[in-house]
Amino acid sequence: MTFNELGLSSDILKAVSEIGFETPSEIQEKSIPVLLGDDRDYIGLAQTGTGKTAAFGLPMIEQIDTDYRAIQALVLCPTRELCLQIAKELKAYSKYSKGIKVVAVYGGANISEQIRDIKKGANIIVGTPGRTIDLINRKALNFDSVSKLVLDEADEMLNMGFKEDIDEILKSTPPFKNTWLFSATMPKEVEKIASNYMENPFKVTVGTKNSSAKNIDHRFCLVHGRDKYYALRRFIDYAPGMFGITFTRTRREAKEVAEKLMNDGYNADALHGDLSQAQRDTVMNKFRKKNLQVLVATDVAARGIDVDDVTHVFHYDLPDDIESYTHRSGRTARAGKSGVSIALISPAKSSRIRLVEKQIGKKLELIKVPSGNDICGIQLMNLIQNVKEVEVNEKGIAPFVAQIHENLTDFSKEELIEKFVSVEFNRFLKSYAKAGDINVDPSKVKKGKDRERTSSGRPSANRVFINVGKMDGFENKGQLLGFVCNQSGINGDSVGKIDLFDSFSFMGVDEGIGEKLINAMNGKNIENRDIRVEFSNEKPRGERGGRRRSGGNSGGGRRNSGGGSRRRSEGGGNRNFKERRKRR
Ligand code: AMP
Repeated sequence: MTFNELGLSSDILKAVSEIGFETPSEIQEKSIPVLLGDDRDYIGLAQTGTGKTAAFGLPMIEQIDTDYRAIQALVLCPTRELCLQIAKELKAYSKYSKGIKVVAVYGGANISEQIRDIKKGANIIVGTPGRTIDLINRKALNFDSVSKLVLDEADEMLNMGFKEDIDEILKSTPPFKNTWLFSATMPKEVEKIASNYMENPFKVTVGTKNSSAKNIDHRFCLVHGRDKYYALRRFIDYAPGMFGITFTRTRREAKEVAEKLMNDGYNADALHGDLSQAQRDTVMNKFRKKNLQVLVATDVAARGIDVDDVTHVFHYDLPDDIESYTHRSGRTARAGKSGVSIALISPAKSSRIRLVEKQIGKKLELIKVPSGNDICGIQLMNLIQNVKEVEVNEKGIAPFVAQIHENLTDFSKEELIEKFVSVEFNRFLKSYAKAGDINVDPSKVKKGKDRERTSSGRPSANRVFINVGKMDGFENKGQLLGFVCNQSGINGDSVGKIDLFDSFSFMGVDEGIGEKLINAMNGKNIENRDIRVEFSNEKPRGERGGRRRSGGNSGGGRRNSGGGSRRRSEGGGNRNFKERRKRR
Protein backbone atom coordinates (compact mmCIF):
# COMPACT_ATOMS: atom_id res chain seq x y z
CA MET A 1 0.00 0.00 0.00
CA THR A 2 1.14 3.59 -0.64
CA PHE A 3 0.35 6.86 1.15
CA ASN A 4 -1.61 7.93 -1.98
CA GLU A 5 -4.20 5.23 -1.27
CA LEU A 6 -4.98 6.38 2.27
CA GLY A 7 -7.17 9.35 1.35
CA LEU A 8 -4.74 12.11 2.31
CA SER A 9 -4.63 15.52 0.60
CA SER A 10 -1.87 16.54 -1.80
CA ASP A 11 -0.41 19.04 0.71
CA ILE A 12 0.12 16.30 3.26
CA LEU A 13 1.36 13.81 0.66
CA LYS A 14 3.95 16.33 -0.50
CA ALA A 15 5.21 16.86 3.05
CA VAL A 16 5.29 13.12 3.79
CA SER A 17 7.24 12.38 0.66
CA GLU A 18 9.67 15.22 1.42
CA ILE A 19 10.28 13.78 4.91
CA GLY A 20 11.19 10.53 3.20
CA PHE A 21 8.38 8.20 4.24
CA GLU A 22 7.91 5.83 1.32
CA THR A 23 5.26 3.39 2.47
CA PRO A 24 2.88 3.62 5.43
CA SER A 25 3.74 1.57 8.51
CA GLU A 26 1.27 -1.03 9.73
CA ILE A 27 -0.42 1.26 12.23
CA GLN A 28 -0.65 4.06 9.66
CA GLU A 29 -2.21 1.77 7.09
CA LYS A 30 -4.76 0.48 9.59
CA SER A 31 -5.60 3.78 11.28
CA ILE A 32 -5.39 6.68 8.82
CA PRO A 33 -8.42 5.74 6.66
CA VAL A 34 -10.53 5.19 9.80
CA LEU A 35 -9.43 8.37 11.55
CA LEU A 36 -9.98 10.40 8.38
CA GLY A 37 -13.43 9.08 7.72
CA ASP A 38 -15.17 7.94 10.87
CA ASP A 39 -16.37 10.28 13.53
CA ARG A 40 -15.58 7.92 16.40
CA ASP A 41 -13.26 7.14 19.27
CA TYR A 42 -10.20 5.04 18.69
CA ILE A 43 -7.68 2.89 20.60
CA GLY A 44 -4.28 2.13 19.10
CA LEU A 45 -2.21 -0.49 20.88
CA ALA A 46 1.22 0.33 19.63
CA GLN A 47 4.72 0.92 20.81
CA THR A 48 6.72 4.02 20.20
CA GLY A 49 8.69 3.54 17.01
CA THR A 50 5.80 2.08 15.03
CA GLY A 51 4.95 5.39 13.36
CA LYS A 52 1.96 6.22 15.55
CA THR A 53 2.64 9.97 15.55
CA ALA A 54 1.89 10.11 11.83
CA ALA A 55 -0.97 7.65 12.30
CA PHE A 56 -2.86 10.21 14.36
CA GLY A 57 -1.05 13.36 13.20
CA LEU A 58 -1.86 13.18 9.50
CA PRO A 59 -5.64 12.70 9.87
CA MET A 60 -5.67 15.26 12.66
CA ILE A 61 -4.05 17.94 10.50
CA GLU A 62 -6.42 17.13 7.66
CA GLN A 63 -9.43 17.83 9.87
CA ILE A 64 -8.39 21.22 11.25
CA ASP A 65 -10.56 24.04 9.91
CA THR A 66 -7.98 26.76 9.39
CA ASP A 67 -10.64 29.42 8.79
CA TYR A 68 -11.74 29.00 12.37
CA ARG A 69 -9.38 30.49 14.95
CA ALA A 70 -9.57 28.16 17.94
CA ILE A 71 -7.76 25.20 19.43
CA GLN A 72 -9.29 22.20 17.68
CA ALA A 73 -6.90 19.42 18.64
CA LEU A 74 -5.08 18.52 21.85
CA VAL A 75 -2.37 15.87 22.19
CA LEU A 76 -1.44 14.87 25.74
CA CYS A 77 1.80 12.98 26.30
CA PRO A 78 3.89 12.04 29.35
CA THR A 79 7.18 13.88 28.91
CA ARG A 80 8.70 17.10 27.68
CA GLU A 81 10.93 15.10 25.33
CA LEU A 82 8.00 13.39 23.67
CA CYS A 83 6.03 16.63 23.60
CA LEU A 84 8.77 18.38 21.65
CA GLN A 85 9.18 15.41 19.37
CA ILE A 86 5.47 15.18 18.53
CA ALA A 87 5.20 18.94 17.93
CA LYS A 88 8.22 18.79 15.63
CA GLU A 89 6.71 15.95 13.62
CA LEU A 90 3.32 17.63 13.34
CA LYS A 91 4.99 20.80 12.08
CA ALA A 92 6.85 18.79 9.45
CA TYR A 93 3.67 17.01 8.31
CA SER A 94 1.84 20.34 8.00
CA LYS A 95 4.62 22.14 6.15
CA TYR A 96 2.37 22.69 3.11
CA SER A 97 -0.96 22.87 4.98
CA LYS A 98 -1.56 26.59 5.28
CA GLY A 99 -2.82 27.96 8.59
CA ILE A 100 -1.86 25.03 10.81
CA LYS A 101 -0.17 26.25 13.96
CA VAL A 102 1.19 23.71 16.44
CA VAL A 103 2.30 24.83 19.92
CA ALA A 104 4.06 22.61 22.45
CA VAL A 105 3.45 23.29 26.15
CA TYR A 106 5.58 21.54 28.75
CA GLY A 107 7.07 22.17 32.16
CA GLY A 108 10.54 23.51 32.83
CA ALA A 109 10.26 26.19 30.13
CA ASN A 110 9.19 29.82 30.13
CA ILE A 111 5.41 29.87 30.51
CA SER A 112 4.97 33.45 29.22
CA GLU A 113 6.53 32.50 25.89
CA GLN A 114 4.18 29.55 25.63
CA ILE A 115 1.20 31.81 26.38
CA ARG A 116 2.38 34.23 23.68
CA ASP A 117 2.62 31.39 21.16
CA ILE A 118 -0.86 30.13 22.03
CA LYS A 119 -2.28 33.63 21.58
CA LYS A 120 -0.78 33.89 18.11
CA GLY A 121 -3.48 31.48 16.99
CA ALA A 122 -2.62 27.89 17.86
CA ASN A 123 -5.01 25.30 16.51
CA ILE A 124 -3.11 22.20 17.72
CA ILE A 125 -1.71 21.96 21.26
CA VAL A 126 0.74 19.27 22.28
CA GLY A 127 1.15 19.26 26.04
CA THR A 128 2.32 17.47 29.12
CA PRO A 129 -0.49 17.16 31.69
CA GLY A 130 1.02 19.36 34.44
CA ARG A 131 1.74 22.38 32.26
CA THR A 132 -1.54 22.00 30.40
CA ILE A 133 -3.47 22.24 33.69
CA ASP A 134 -1.38 25.23 34.68
CA LEU A 135 -2.31 27.00 31.45
CA ILE A 136 -5.99 26.11 31.81
CA ASN A 137 -5.93 27.64 35.30
CA ARG A 138 -4.31 30.78 33.92
CA LYS A 139 -7.06 30.90 31.31
CA ALA A 140 -4.43 30.75 28.57
CA LEU A 141 -5.86 27.51 27.19
CA ASN A 142 -9.47 27.02 26.26
CA PHE A 143 -10.55 23.64 24.95
CA ASP A 144 -14.21 24.43 24.20
CA SER A 145 -13.63 23.85 20.48
CA VAL A 146 -11.49 20.74 20.70
CA SER A 147 -12.80 18.03 18.41
CA LYS A 148 -9.79 15.67 18.50
CA LEU A 149 -8.12 14.64 21.73
CA VAL A 150 -5.12 12.32 21.63
CA LEU A 151 -3.84 10.53 24.74
CA ASP A 152 -0.40 9.38 23.69
CA GLU A 153 1.47 6.75 25.72
CA ALA A 154 -1.54 6.56 28.04
CA ASP A 155 0.02 3.79 30.14
CA GLU A 156 3.11 5.88 30.73
CA MET A 157 1.06 8.91 31.74
CA LEU A 158 -0.79 6.84 34.30
CA ASN A 159 2.44 5.23 35.51
CA MET A 160 3.81 8.69 36.13
CA GLY A 161 0.84 9.64 38.28
CA PHE A 162 -1.00 11.91 35.84
CA LYS A 163 -4.38 10.22 36.35
CA GLU A 164 -5.97 13.16 38.18
CA ASP A 165 -4.53 15.73 35.80
CA ILE A 166 -5.88 13.80 32.82
CA ASP A 167 -9.32 13.58 34.42
CA GLU A 168 -9.30 17.31 34.98
CA ILE A 169 -8.14 18.15 31.46
CA LEU A 170 -10.73 15.82 29.94
CA LYS A 171 -13.44 17.61 31.89
CA SER A 172 -12.45 20.87 30.20
CA THR A 173 -13.01 19.42 26.72
CA PRO A 174 -16.44 19.19 25.08
CA PRO A 175 -18.40 15.91 25.01
CA PHE A 176 -18.71 15.80 21.21
CA LYS A 177 -14.98 15.38 20.58
CA ASN A 178 -13.30 12.19 19.38
CA THR A 179 -10.77 10.64 21.76
CA TRP A 180 -7.88 8.75 20.24
CA LEU A 181 -5.88 6.76 22.79
CA PHE A 182 -2.48 5.21 22.17
CA SER A 183 -0.78 2.85 24.58
CA ALA A 184 1.96 0.23 24.35
CA THR A 185 0.31 -1.85 27.04
CA MET A 186 -3.25 -2.15 28.26
CA PRO A 187 -3.23 -2.32 32.06
CA LYS A 188 -6.49 -2.01 33.99
CA GLU A 189 -6.06 1.73 34.60
CA VAL A 190 -5.90 2.42 30.85
CA GLU A 191 -8.93 0.23 30.27
CA LYS A 192 -10.73 2.28 32.91
CA ILE A 193 -9.96 5.51 31.04
CA ALA A 194 -11.23 3.90 27.86
CA SER A 195 -14.48 2.77 29.46
CA ASN A 196 -15.03 6.06 31.30
CA TYR A 197 -14.29 8.45 28.48
CA MET A 198 -14.75 6.62 25.20
CA GLU A 199 -17.69 5.34 23.28
CA ASN A 200 -17.49 2.22 21.15
CA PRO A 201 -13.86 2.84 20.17
CA PHE A 202 -12.37 1.43 16.98
CA LYS A 203 -9.42 -0.75 18.03
CA VAL A 204 -6.17 -1.26 16.18
CA THR A 205 -3.43 -3.48 17.54
CA VAL A 206 0.04 -3.55 16.09
CA GLY A 207 1.90 -6.64 17.25
CA THR A 208 0.44 -8.57 20.16
CA LYS A 209 -1.26 -6.96 23.09
CA ASN A 210 1.23 -6.05 25.81
CA SER A 211 4.05 -7.30 23.64
CA SER A 212 7.05 -5.63 22.18
CA ALA A 213 7.85 -5.02 18.56
CA LYS A 214 8.56 -8.11 16.51
CA ASN A 215 11.99 -7.13 15.33
CA ILE A 216 13.58 -7.05 18.79
CA ASP A 217 15.71 -10.01 19.82
CA HIS A 218 15.05 -10.55 23.51
CA ARG A 219 17.99 -12.17 25.25
CA PHE A 220 19.39 -12.62 28.72
CA CYS A 221 22.58 -13.86 30.33
CA LEU A 222 23.19 -15.25 33.80
CA VAL A 223 25.93 -13.52 35.79
CA HIS A 224 26.56 -12.82 39.44
CA GLY A 225 25.79 -9.27 40.59
CA ARG A 226 29.51 -8.59 41.05
CA ASP A 227 30.19 -9.43 37.40
CA LYS A 228 27.42 -7.39 35.83
CA TYR A 229 29.55 -4.44 34.96
CA TYR A 230 32.09 -6.66 33.22
CA ALA A 231 29.32 -8.45 31.37
CA LEU A 232 27.99 -5.10 30.17
CA ARG A 233 31.42 -4.02 28.98
CA ARG A 234 31.94 -7.27 27.15
CA PHE A 235 28.63 -6.97 25.32
CA ILE A 236 29.50 -3.41 24.33
CA ASP A 237 32.94 -4.44 23.11
CA TYR A 238 31.48 -7.39 21.26
CA ALA A 239 29.30 -5.12 19.15
CA PRO A 240 31.53 -2.48 17.53
CA GLY A 241 29.36 0.38 16.37
CA MET A 242 26.66 -0.35 18.94
CA PHE A 243 24.60 2.61 20.10
CA GLY A 244 22.60 1.83 23.17
CA ILE A 245 20.85 2.49 26.42
CA THR A 246 21.57 0.69 29.68
CA PHE A 247 18.70 0.80 32.14
CA THR A 248 19.31 0.67 35.88
CA ARG A 249 16.80 0.53 38.70
CA THR A 250 18.29 3.29 40.81
CA ARG A 251 19.82 6.70 40.25
CA ARG A 252 22.88 5.68 42.22
CA GLU A 253 23.47 2.71 39.98
CA ALA A 254 22.99 4.82 36.85
CA LYS A 255 25.66 7.22 38.12
CA GLU A 256 28.03 4.44 39.15
CA VAL A 257 27.78 2.44 35.93
CA ALA A 258 28.16 5.55 33.76
CA GLU A 259 31.18 6.69 35.78
CA LYS A 260 32.84 3.29 35.50
CA LEU A 261 32.27 3.23 31.76
CA MET A 262 33.70 6.72 31.39
CA ASN A 263 36.73 5.79 33.48
CA ASP A 264 37.25 2.79 31.25
CA GLY A 265 37.28 4.99 28.18
CA TYR A 266 33.76 4.67 26.81
CA ASN A 267 31.68 7.56 25.57
CA ALA A 268 28.98 7.15 28.17
CA ASP A 269 26.88 9.38 30.39
CA ALA A 270 24.09 9.07 32.93
CA LEU A 271 20.49 10.30 32.75
CA HIS A 272 18.60 10.26 36.03
CA GLY A 273 16.35 12.25 38.30
CA ASP A 274 19.14 13.94 40.24
CA LEU A 275 20.06 16.00 37.19
CA SER A 276 18.53 19.39 36.48
CA GLN A 277 16.42 19.76 33.36
CA ALA A 278 19.28 21.64 31.68
CA GLN A 279 21.73 18.83 32.51
CA ARG A 280 19.31 16.25 31.19
CA ASP A 281 18.90 18.20 27.96
CA THR A 282 22.68 18.33 27.53
CA VAL A 283 23.01 14.57 28.00
CA MET A 284 20.10 13.88 25.65
CA ASN A 285 21.51 16.17 22.97
CA LYS A 286 24.84 14.38 23.16
CA PHE A 287 23.07 11.04 22.84
CA ARG A 288 20.86 12.20 19.99
CA LYS A 289 23.90 13.40 18.08
CA LYS A 290 25.57 10.06 18.80
CA ASN A 291 28.39 11.74 20.67
CA LEU A 292 27.56 9.20 23.35
CA GLN A 293 27.78 5.52 22.61
CA VAL A 294 26.04 4.40 25.78
CA LEU A 295 23.41 6.22 27.79
CA VAL A 296 22.93 4.84 31.31
CA ALA A 297 19.45 5.76 32.48
CA THR A 298 16.79 5.12 35.07
CA ASP A 299 13.31 4.23 33.85
CA VAL A 300 11.72 7.51 34.82
CA ALA A 301 14.44 9.67 33.29
CA ALA A 302 14.39 7.66 30.10
CA ARG A 303 10.66 7.98 29.50
CA GLY A 304 9.90 9.41 26.13
CA ILE A 305 13.40 8.92 24.74
CA ASP A 306 12.67 8.58 21.07
CA VAL A 307 16.02 8.35 19.41
CA ASP A 308 16.26 6.40 16.19
CA ASP A 309 18.98 3.85 15.46
CA VAL A 310 19.39 2.56 19.02
CA THR A 311 20.88 -0.89 18.40
CA HIS A 312 20.98 -2.27 21.96
CA VAL A 313 19.01 -1.97 25.16
CA PHE A 314 20.62 -3.46 28.26
CA HIS A 315 18.74 -4.15 31.45
CA TYR A 316 21.37 -3.86 34.17
CA ASP A 317 18.52 -4.97 36.41
CA LEU A 318 15.03 -5.93 35.45
CA PRO A 319 12.58 -3.18 36.36
CA ASP A 320 10.48 -3.57 39.52
CA ASP A 321 7.43 -3.00 37.41
CA ILE A 322 7.67 -5.67 34.72
CA GLU A 323 5.57 -3.64 32.27
CA SER A 324 8.46 -1.19 32.06
CA TYR A 325 10.42 -3.93 30.29
CA THR A 326 8.28 -3.35 27.21
CA HIS A 327 8.94 0.39 27.31
CA ARG A 328 12.64 -0.11 27.83
CA SER A 329 13.12 -2.57 25.00
CA GLY A 330 10.90 -0.47 22.74
CA ARG A 331 13.67 2.14 22.66
CA THR A 332 15.38 -0.03 20.08
CA ALA A 333 14.04 -1.39 16.77
CA ARG A 334 12.25 1.82 15.89
CA ALA A 335 10.86 2.59 12.45
CA GLY A 336 11.09 -0.94 11.11
CA LYS A 337 14.69 -1.48 12.15
CA SER A 338 15.85 -4.36 14.29
CA GLY A 339 17.41 -4.29 17.73
CA VAL A 340 18.63 -6.34 20.64
CA SER A 341 17.46 -6.30 24.24
CA ILE A 342 19.80 -7.99 26.72
CA ALA A 343 18.97 -8.49 30.39
CA LEU A 344 21.82 -9.13 32.81
CA ILE A 345 20.30 -11.50 35.33
CA SER A 346 21.78 -12.64 38.61
CA PRO A 347 20.86 -16.17 39.75
CA ALA A 348 18.85 -14.80 42.67
CA LYS A 349 16.59 -12.96 40.23
CA SER A 350 16.32 -15.65 37.56
CA SER A 351 12.68 -16.42 38.35
CA ARG A 352 11.73 -12.93 37.09
CA ILE A 353 12.59 -13.97 33.54
CA ARG A 354 9.32 -15.86 33.42
CA LEU A 355 7.40 -12.73 34.37
CA VAL A 356 9.00 -10.87 31.47
CA GLU A 357 8.20 -13.73 29.11
CA LYS A 358 4.60 -13.63 30.22
CA GLN A 359 4.49 -9.88 29.74
CA ILE A 360 5.85 -9.88 26.19
CA GLY A 361 4.43 -13.25 25.14
CA LYS A 362 7.82 -14.44 23.96
CA LYS A 363 10.70 -16.56 25.25
CA LEU A 364 13.91 -14.81 26.13
CA GLU A 365 16.95 -16.50 24.64
CA LEU A 366 19.68 -17.43 27.11
CA ILE A 367 23.00 -16.25 25.70
CA LYS A 368 26.53 -16.34 27.00
CA VAL A 369 28.57 -13.31 27.91
CA PRO A 370 31.24 -13.21 25.18
CA SER A 371 34.67 -14.46 26.12
CA GLY A 372 37.78 -12.31 25.89
CA ASN A 373 38.79 -14.27 22.79
CA ASP A 374 35.43 -13.68 21.09
CA ILE A 375 35.73 -9.97 21.73
CA CYS A 376 39.30 -9.68 20.53
CA GLY A 377 38.38 -11.51 17.32
CA ILE A 378 35.44 -9.21 16.61
CA GLN A 379 37.40 -6.07 17.42
CA LEU A 380 40.32 -7.14 15.28
CA MET A 381 38.12 -7.79 12.27
CA ASN A 382 36.41 -4.47 12.85
CA LEU A 383 39.76 -2.72 12.94
CA ILE A 384 40.77 -4.34 9.67
CA GLN A 385 37.47 -3.36 8.09
CA ASN A 386 38.03 0.23 9.21
CA VAL A 387 41.52 0.18 7.70
CA LYS A 388 40.07 -1.11 4.43
CA GLU A 389 37.40 1.53 4.32
CA VAL A 390 39.29 4.57 5.58
CA GLU A 391 39.63 7.35 3.03
CA VAL A 392 43.22 8.41 2.57
CA ASN A 393 43.83 12.13 2.40
CA GLU A 394 46.57 11.93 -0.19
CA LYS A 395 47.14 15.64 -0.36
CA GLY A 396 47.41 15.91 3.40
CA ILE A 397 49.96 13.17 3.87
CA ALA A 398 51.93 13.86 0.66
CA PRO A 399 54.56 16.04 2.39
CA PHE A 400 55.31 13.21 4.85
CA VAL A 401 55.30 10.21 2.54
CA ALA A 402 59.03 10.21 1.76
CA GLN A 403 59.92 10.43 5.43
CA ILE A 404 57.48 7.65 6.33
CA HIS A 405 58.96 5.34 3.68
CA GLU A 406 62.46 6.07 4.83
CA ASN A 407 61.55 5.18 8.42
CA LEU A 408 59.77 1.97 7.58
CA THR A 409 62.03 0.72 4.83
CA ASP A 410 63.50 -2.12 6.92
CA PHE A 411 60.15 -3.82 7.58
CA SER A 412 58.49 -6.39 5.39
CA LYS A 413 54.81 -6.00 4.41
CA GLU A 414 53.83 -8.69 6.95
CA GLU A 415 55.73 -7.01 9.73
CA LEU A 416 54.17 -3.66 8.92
CA ILE A 417 50.66 -5.08 8.99
CA GLU A 418 51.30 -6.67 12.37
CA LYS A 419 52.75 -3.50 13.76
CA PHE A 420 49.98 -1.19 12.58
CA VAL A 421 47.30 -3.50 13.87
CA SER A 422 49.08 -3.80 17.20
CA VAL A 423 49.17 -0.04 17.72
CA GLU A 424 45.41 -0.12 18.21
CA PHE A 425 45.05 -3.62 19.42
CA ASN A 426 47.69 -4.33 22.06
CA ARG A 427 46.02 -2.60 24.96
CA PHE A 428 42.77 -4.24 24.09
CA LEU A 429 44.33 -7.68 24.06
CA LYS A 430 45.90 -6.88 27.40
CA SER A 431 42.59 -5.76 28.80
CA TYR A 432 41.06 -9.13 28.08
CA ALA A 433 44.20 -11.27 28.51
CA LYS A 434 43.08 -12.76 31.81
CA ALA A 435 39.37 -12.50 31.25
CA GLY A 436 37.73 -15.64 32.54
CA ASP A 437 34.31 -17.07 31.96
CA ILE A 438 31.81 -15.07 34.00
CA ASN A 439 28.71 -16.96 32.92
CA VAL A 440 26.77 -18.72 35.65
CA ASP A 441 26.00 -22.31 34.72
CA PRO A 442 22.21 -22.32 34.17
CA SER A 443 21.94 -25.96 35.32
CA LYS A 444 23.04 -24.76 38.76
CA VAL A 445 20.15 -22.33 38.97
CA LYS A 446 17.05 -24.11 40.21
CA LYS A 447 14.07 -23.45 38.05
CA GLY A 448 10.65 -22.51 39.34
CA LYS A 449 11.68 -21.59 42.86
CA ASP A 450 13.97 -19.09 44.37
CA ARG A 451 17.09 -21.10 44.70
CA GLU A 452 18.00 -20.11 48.22
CA ARG A 453 15.34 -22.21 49.84
CA THR A 454 16.70 -25.17 51.78
CA SER A 455 14.41 -28.13 51.96
CA SER A 456 16.42 -30.00 54.50
CA GLY A 457 16.80 -27.39 57.17
CA ARG A 458 20.58 -27.48 56.73
CA PRO A 459 22.41 -24.16 56.84
CA SER A 460 22.26 -22.49 53.45
CA ALA A 461 24.98 -20.27 52.10
CA ASN A 462 22.27 -18.64 50.03
CA ARG A 463 19.86 -17.66 52.78
CA VAL A 464 20.46 -15.47 55.78
CA PHE A 465 18.54 -14.71 58.94
CA ILE A 466 18.47 -11.13 60.26
CA ASN A 467 16.95 -10.17 63.59
CA VAL A 468 15.10 -7.12 62.31
CA GLY A 469 11.57 -6.98 60.97
CA LYS A 470 8.35 -5.00 60.84
CA MET A 471 8.64 -4.06 64.52
CA ASP A 472 11.77 -2.10 63.63
CA GLY A 473 9.74 0.11 61.32
CA PHE A 474 10.20 -1.74 58.02
CA GLU A 475 6.82 -1.61 56.38
CA ASN A 476 7.81 -3.59 53.32
CA LYS A 477 10.58 -5.71 51.85
CA GLY A 478 11.91 -2.83 49.78
CA GLN A 479 12.55 -0.73 52.88
CA LEU A 480 14.40 -3.59 54.54
CA LEU A 481 16.44 -4.20 51.40
CA GLY A 482 17.32 -0.51 51.18
CA PHE A 483 18.45 -0.51 54.82
CA VAL A 484 20.59 -3.63 54.43
CA CYS A 485 22.19 -2.39 51.20
CA ASN A 486 22.98 0.99 52.75
CA GLN A 487 24.46 -0.50 55.87
CA SER A 488 26.50 -3.22 54.19
CA GLY A 489 27.31 -1.74 50.79
CA ILE A 490 26.05 -4.83 48.96
CA ASN A 491 24.15 -4.43 45.71
CA GLY A 492 20.40 -5.00 45.99
CA ASP A 493 20.64 -7.17 42.95
CA SER A 494 22.50 -9.85 44.92
CA VAL A 495 19.44 -10.35 47.06
CA GLY A 496 16.61 -12.63 46.03
CA LYS A 497 13.49 -13.53 47.96
CA ILE A 498 12.91 -11.66 51.20
CA ASP A 499 10.56 -12.88 53.93
CA LEU A 500 9.72 -10.05 56.31
CA PHE A 501 8.21 -10.98 59.69
CA ASP A 502 7.44 -8.97 62.80
CA SER A 503 10.73 -9.32 64.61
CA PHE A 504 13.02 -11.00 62.09
CA SER A 505 13.46 -11.64 58.38
CA PHE A 506 15.12 -13.96 55.88
CA MET A 507 16.90 -13.04 52.70
CA GLY A 508 17.99 -15.13 49.75
CA VAL A 509 21.43 -14.02 48.62
CA ASP A 510 23.92 -14.74 45.87
CA GLU A 511 26.98 -16.82 46.57
CA GLY A 512 29.53 -14.96 48.68
CA ILE A 513 27.07 -12.27 49.70
CA GLY A 514 25.92 -13.95 52.93
CA GLU A 515 29.41 -13.71 54.37
CA LYS A 516 29.71 -10.11 53.34
CA LEU A 517 26.44 -9.29 55.05
CA ILE A 518 27.45 -11.11 58.23
CA ASN A 519 30.74 -9.25 58.37
CA ALA A 520 29.24 -5.88 57.59
CA MET A 521 26.07 -5.98 59.66
CA ASN A 522 27.02 -7.74 62.88
CA GLY A 523 28.20 -5.13 65.36
CA LYS A 524 25.87 -2.47 63.95
CA ASN A 525 22.71 -1.61 65.79
CA ILE A 526 19.23 -0.37 65.16
CA GLU A 527 17.56 1.75 67.83
CA ASN A 528 20.10 0.57 70.41
CA ARG A 529 19.55 -3.11 69.59
CA ASP A 530 22.41 -5.16 68.18
CA ILE A 531 21.83 -6.39 64.67
CA ARG A 532 22.49 -10.08 64.17
CA VAL A 533 22.88 -11.74 60.77
CA GLU A 534 23.51 -15.47 60.40
CA PHE A 535 23.23 -18.13 57.77
CA SER A 536 19.79 -19.63 57.99
CA ASN A 537 19.37 -23.23 59.13
CA GLU A 538 15.62 -23.34 59.11
CA LYS A 539 13.05 -24.44 56.64
CA PRO A 540 11.60 -21.22 55.39
CA ARG A 541 8.11 -22.63 54.88
CA GLY A 542 7.39 -23.19 58.58
CA GLU A 543 7.86 -19.62 59.66
CA ARG A 544 4.33 -18.37 59.82
CA GLY A 545 3.93 -19.12 63.52
CA GLY A 546 6.07 -16.12 64.31
CA ARG A 547 8.44 -18.00 66.62
CA ARG A 548 11.61 -16.15 67.33
CA ARG A 549 14.37 -17.80 65.41
CA SER A 550 17.86 -18.45 66.49
CA GLY A 551 20.10 -18.46 63.52
CA GLY A 552 22.31 -21.47 64.23
CA ASN A 553 25.84 -21.78 63.01
CA SER A 554 27.53 -19.62 60.53
CA GLY A 555 28.95 -22.47 58.51
CA GLY A 556 29.01 -22.69 54.80
CA GLY A 557 31.08 -19.56 54.61
CA ARG A 558 32.52 -19.95 51.21
CA ARG A 559 35.09 -17.47 50.07
CA ASN A 560 34.18 -15.31 47.20
CA SER A 561 36.39 -16.98 44.65
CA GLY A 562 37.87 -15.81 41.40
CA GLY A 563 37.26 -12.48 39.85
CA GLY A 564 40.16 -10.62 41.44
CA SER A 565 42.67 -10.83 38.68
CA ARG A 566 39.99 -10.69 36.07
CA ARG A 567 38.56 -7.59 37.60
CA ARG A 568 41.90 -5.87 37.62
CA SER A 569 42.59 -6.69 34.01
CA GLU A 570 39.10 -5.89 32.80
CA GLY A 571 38.93 -2.72 34.84
CA GLY A 572 42.16 -1.42 33.31
CA GLY A 573 41.82 1.62 31.08
CA ASN A 574 41.17 1.33 27.42
CA ARG A 575 42.16 4.73 26.27
CA ASN A 576 42.99 4.09 22.66
CA PHE A 577 39.56 2.58 22.15
CA LYS A 578 38.08 5.73 23.55
CA GLU A 579 39.88 7.65 20.89
CA ARG A 580 38.63 5.29 18.23
CA ARG A 581 35.06 5.50 19.50
CA LYS A 582 35.28 9.27 19.36
CA ARG A 583 36.44 9.18 15.79
CA ARG A 584 33.62 6.88 14.75
P1 AMP B 1 6.82 7.19 16.10
O1 AMP B 1 6.36 5.81 16.46
O2 AMP B 1 5.70 8.04 15.61
O3 AMP B 1 7.60 7.83 17.21
O4 AMP B 1 7.81 7.06 14.84
C1 AMP B 1 9.08 6.49 14.91
C2 AMP B 1 10.00 6.93 13.79
O5 AMP B 1 9.57 6.39 12.55
C3 AMP B 1 10.07 8.43 13.60
O6 AMP B 1 11.42 8.79 13.41
C4 AMP B 1 9.28 8.68 12.34
O7 AMP B 1 9.74 9.82 11.67
C5 AMP B 1 9.51 7.40 11.54
N1 AMP B 1 8.40 7.03 10.65
C6 AMP B 1 7.08 7.16 10.90
N2 AMP B 1 6.36 6.69 9.86
C7 AMP B 1 7.22 6.25 8.94
C8 AMP B 1 7.08 5.65 7.63
N3 AMP B 1 5.90 5.42 7.08
N4 AMP B 1 8.20 5.32 6.96
C9 AMP B 1 9.41 5.56 7.52
N5 AMP B 1 9.62 6.11 8.73
C10 AMP B 1 8.54 6.46 9.44
